[in-house]
Amino acid sequence: MCLPTQHPVPRWFTLASDGVTITPFDETVTVAVHPKETTVSAIDDVLKNNARYVESFGEGGSLHGAPARGLAVVACMDARLDVYRVLGLEEGDAHVIRNAGGVVSDDAIRSLIISQRFLATREVLLIHHTDCGMMTFRDDSAKDDIEAETGLRPSFALESFRDLDQDVRQSIARIKASPFIPSKDDVRGFVFDCETGALNEVKGD
Ligand SMILES: [Zn+2]
Repeated sequence: MCLPTQHPVPRWFTLASDGVTITPFDETVTVAVHPKETTVSAIDDVLKNNARYVESFGEGGSLHGAPARGLAVVACMDARLDVYRVLGLEEGDAHVIRNAGGVVSDDAIRSLIISQRFLATREVLLIHHTDCGMMTFRDDSAKDDIEAETGLRPSFALESFRDLDQDVRQSIARIKASPFIPSKDDVRGFVFDCETGALNEVKGD
């Protein structure tokens, strides 16, 4: 999870006409989050893109829901990480499960269960990445802020982490430890380098 800048992830942010004012740990900065100037909402804008996509959809409607490569990918939702292009995947090739951090959460496990048991995937590829926003805050302090602001403390872990490789290893271990995932022989984890586009493998313990 990252804002499209090099700034730390904010504790909170406020919308402003010239961008977003964010208040990270030790400074306040304003970043432009809508670099593509538009007079309509982002959703309206991308729906126009979809209209063009439909025109070129071609044979896409004939694909089967079971991924052709038998592959499931769990990746961070980072906007710079285009999983399909990074891996050279086509539509119909793989399941791509994404969340903040590419965390193997209970919900990611849920999706992997469906992917393997009902849609025949067998290999799991994990992708974390450099400059991940999940490394810029700590769960406790973020929860303190949320609680102070809303009166409610999240009951779930935000899953921040400090060490990329260690978190990849933990993610692999969570899958290996799950009794619900039938195929665990081919589980491999990688760190995507946001500066070079390379995937660097992290070996499990
Ligand atoms: Zn990330």
